[in-house]
Amino acid sequence: MAIDRVIDSQQLNKGEEEFNVSLRPKTLDECIGQLNIKEKISIAITAAKQRGEPLEHILFYGPPGLGKTTLANIVAIEMGSKLRSSSGPALNKQGDVMGLLSNVNEGDVLFIDEIHRLSTPVEEFIYPAMEDFKVDFTVDSGLHAKTINFPLKRFTLIGATTRAGLISAPLRGRFGMLYHVDFYSQGELAEILNRSANLLKLECENGTLELIADRSRGTPRVANRLLKRVRDYAQVKGSGVLSCDIVEKALKMEQIDSLGLDELDRSFLRALAEVYDGGPAGIDAIAATLGEERDTLEDVVEPYLLQVGFVRRTKRGREITRHACRHLGITLSEKKKAQPELFEQDD
Ligand code: ADP
Repeated sequence: MAIDRVIDSQQLNKGEEEFNVSLRPKTLDECIGQLNIKEKISIAITAAKQRGEPLEHILFYGPPGLGKTTLANIVAIEMGSKLRSSSGPALNKQGDVMGLLSNVNEGDVLFIDEIHRLSTPVEEFIYPAMEDFKVDFTVDSGLHAKTINFPLKRFTLIGATTRAGLISAPLRGRFGMLYHVDFYSQGELAEILNRSANLLKLECENGTLELIADRSRGTPRVANRLLKRVRDYAQVKGSGVLSCDIVEKALKMEQIDSLGLDELDRSFLRALAEVYDGGPAGIDAIAATLGEERDTLEDVVEPYLLQVGFVRRTKRGREITRHACRHLGITLSEKKKAQPELFEQDD
């Protein structure tokens, strides 16, 4: 059975989504961190506005919850344009894309989340729209099939993906700007939490937001979600004020450890260590052992474990590192410890 997790940043329920939207920064100035991306976007926006042209197409890639959708919204607001959103899985047929494109006005921003999940025919249909702002739409089929050339208004496509590697070279080549959205530092997360706490009118004692930031896996969405859990705990078990003691107790109840790992992360590492002797093990095998989707492991578990150096990806599969074993108090079998290559780049 799949493990329910506080940090799963893909499947959001409606309440969660509303909570996220309410805390989402609306301008580049309000947006914390990602300085490099913000500077480049700011220059591109100013230049496009001066020329009176739409912005070039942008691709944001990186793990979930780091602000790709937020940045797309900010670009639209800063350009003074309207944002229309869809996602790769929702655009099944050419007709779905046609519906979206035919409603686009001059300068609008079209946001496609999970753009790596577009089918090849839909992707190829989009190429001329991105390049020449026109599409060749086929109506009817068989003998009666007709291709109509449809001119479009000039728009900006913003794609977001957690899997840059799955984007085809022709699609990637049609984006003028490609930005890797990276994990946030503890200081940046504390700043994001401070902004959220102010919006939620939460009273916080010194050091509490830094404690939550430490456990947020470098991810703003996780930080805000943990803040929400801690707020509930403080309200029910305390006076509503966030203290270090309340934060520690609330996070312990959520089974979040000192590095922000939760039960699913620990199960992943334990499976690698105990079932596969530390690895290498294929991601499908680990997914089968845990009863989880491969995509969940690749999108929401592995990126952070790789980032903190707990897992290594090799051609033969995933391997656990000595660092991870120490954190979890796991001892590998004697046979495995005798294989120095498992720990070759460790520490
Ligand atoms: P993604 O699209 O990459 O999955 P989102 O844009 O939905 O991530 O971000 C998740 C939440 O994290 C947002 O609702 C917002 O509240 C917060 N967030 C993301 N990036 C930032 C940022 N740079 N500054 C402040 N809050 C942020």
